[in-house]
Amino acid sequence: MASIAKVVVEISLDREFDYRIPAHLQSVIKVGTQVVVPFHSRELRGFVVGLANHSAFSDKLKEIAGVVGEKPLIPDPIMKLAYWIADYYCAPIEHAVRTVLPSAVRKRGAQHKKQLVVSLVNDSGRRDACGTEAVPQEARLPEKQQMLIQILLQHGSMTLSELKERGECSDSPVRTLEKNGLVTIAESTIQRDPHAGMELLRTKPFDLMAEQQTALDIINAAMDRKKPGTVLLHGVTGSGKTEVYLQAIQHALDQGKGAIVLVPEISLTPQTVDRFRSRFGNCVAVLHSSLSEGERHDEWHRIRNGEATIAIGARSALFAPVENPGLIVVDEEHEPTYKQDESPRYNARDVAVMRGHLENCCVVLGSATPALESFSNVRSGRYELAEMLQRVDDRSMPLMRVVDMRIEAEKEGRPQIFSRELVNGIYDRLNCREQVILFLNRRGFSSSLQCEQCGYVAECEACSVSMTYHKREHKLLCHICGAEKKVPDRCPDCRDPDFKYAGMGTQRIEEVLERLCPNARVARMDSDTMRRKDSYRRVLDDFRIGKIDILLGTQMIAKGLDFPNVTLVGVLYADMSLHVPDFRAGERTFQLLTQVAGRAGRGEKAGEVIVQAYTPHHPAIQAANSLDYEGFCSQDLEFRKELSYPPFSHLVLLTFKGESEGDVIAASDRFFERLERILPESVIHSPPMPAPLARAKGAYRYQIMLRCEHTVKMTKPIRHVMTSFRLPKGVSLSVDVDALSLL
Ligand code: ADP
Ligand code: ZN
Repeated sequence: MASIAKVVVEISLDREFDYRIPAHLQSVIKVGTQVVVPFHSRELRGFVVGLANHSAFSDKLKEIAGVVGEKPLIPDPIMKLAYWIADYYCAPIEHAVRTVLPSAVRKRGAQHKKQLVVSLVNDSGRRDACGTEAVPQEARLPEKQQMLIQILLQHGSMTLSELKERGECSDSPVRTLEKNGLVTIAESTIQRDPHAGMELLRTKPFDLMAEQQTALDIINAAMDRKKPGTVLLHGVTGSGKTEVYLQAIQHALDQGKGAIVLVPEISLTPQTVDRFRSRFGNCVAVLHSSLSEGERHDEWHRIRNGEATIAIGARSALFAPVENPGLIVVDEEHEPTYKQDESPRYNARDVAVMRGHLENCCVVLGSATPALESFSNVRSGRYELAEMLQRVDDRSMPLMRVVDMRIEAEKEGRPQIFSRELVNGIYDRLNCREQVILFLNRRGFSSSLQCEQCGYVAECEACSVSMTYHKREHKLLCHICGAEKKVPDRCPDCRDPDFKYAGMGTQRIEEVLERLCPNARVARMDSDTMRRKDSYRRVLDDFRIGKIDILLGTQMIAKGLDFPNVTLVGVLYADMSLHVPDFRAGERTFQLLTQVAGRAGRGEKAGEVIVQAYTPHHPAIQAANSLDYEGFCSQDLEFRKELSYPPFSHLVLLTFKGESEGDVIAASDRFFERLERILPESVIHSPPMPAPLARAKGAYRYQIMLRCEHTVKMTKPIRHVMTSFRLPKGVSLSVDVDALSLL
């Protein structure tokens, strides 16, 4: 029996502390148990994250004071996952423990919320008397108390807080009623069901299309194997992936196992959740950021006690305590939102594969445009592939056309926002009361230098990424190799002096639209207009019932939306996302175009997509145009291989931040110097340089980028330097393993 517990204390400390386990607690304390420990002069809550027989501090150890709750809060496999995350992503274990256990659960411990419930004494008798005349006894009560009785007569028992709210009073009149024996106040456990009162009609499984059946067979066969492994489900938009997930989950349930479904936050619309709930009813628990803390707490416990066996939610739902999961689904697996942008900077897709491995459970990664990492895992035989290349019910894929905006500018004598073709397309749809989606991919802050006349974009000669304009130095910088260029005052290609920074927002488009079609009802959807939580749903509802003709927006409208009456999708400045200093720019563009195009023609009527671009022949645009996923992958992988980018390497990004630029430079240089001495030869690295986002929120940012086939060859030396490295005051360091954003 272990005598020492390693405890992580619930205040932001990155360390484990050793405590002695008292004899009477030996049998209850396990990894994951929540405990109370003496800490300096206080008592604090903490978690046991490890057990040991010896401690380097044996003679001065304090004892654990007590245990909170009966079961360990963190089940064993999830604790293992936390350790793996801490190790792989170079994060403190405490951050990892925080991540695997929702704060709502951590704070309230294993207790359900206890509420005080007020009930009338001899309730039924009063109710009979109430209809005719006032009960004499009550007539003598003070007015407030009378009113409370009336409320209870009308609504029955309710919580003390609710009663006080309705009666607009404090505790005291209720307590007086209790003292006089008119009401009782008792503690009782209340479970908050976020879906209370929303019974859904149960759906039956569809008869599957041939491709769906084949995909399901592959997944089910994987589930039935001793070592289930990972399946990549590549299914075009509208191919019916969700139905395959649903039936695969049924297969897991049939074997007495549970399931976890991850969806990107943005597609976690009520409709998505409803599809799962209306198939499986109450055994679905939803872990969603817009639930209240109390609701999240209760949903978590419904899973923990086995009442719910299917968990669905965004990133962190991966850590739902589903016991014995048979299947983990990661929908839209290519989505960057699966990566957490604070420590631990984990990618839920990759951790899902790890959880599958630890729990011997099948993992399905689904997407119309799988990440190149996943695709190359299929090529190398690590993942199995299931493909669905047809839409359900023989609906055709939308017809896509690329309009060359350089020619358009020539024709009209100046750069155009809307091509003639797109304008006519919009007029046509408005005339026959069909709907239009317009998409403008206005990503990021960093302006690229682009010529509106000929489409020239300033690119680094050595790195085939576009250069970033650094405003402070008024220079073009390559973020990959550090190359510098002077900012030209006219276009180097066509000598056009009107050369400028590309930058066109949805707001300006909206204005132009108002002039082009004054009678159309236009709604704009971007992070500026969607600040309020319910506005997203409201606009989509209006669009669904036809109150809106044209929906204009950013990435927000690119995925998941299913509106049968949308027959035209227009993409403005399709190449905008190509000119970010990121080797994934092509992949992102291809994914976005494919996803947006997928919004068209989902009903009976065929869909059309018009893509406006200045570089219409770019491989990413051409591949999206011809629906050629594999072709795109092959081409992009070649370029990645040549330059040793992921998936041919892992990438670690160290970012130093601080308000004093001098301190940031000094710290990053010193760190690099020590790191370089112990880096294995196989690690590609470059000295610290300003990040593309050189200053953010008042802090200067400098980066060191490392690339290597094996992550540990980078993280081990990094950790080694970190343990003895003192960052100057005001400078922070973040380590991003498998970084998705290079900003
Ligand atoms: P995806 O997620 O691949 O874009 P969905 O799962 O949203 O596709 O499916 C598209 C539409 O087809 C949905 O309305 C769904 O209900 C319907 N559908 C899926 N499978 C079938 C099927 N086998 N028979 C009939 N309709 C189906
Ligand atoms: Zn370069």
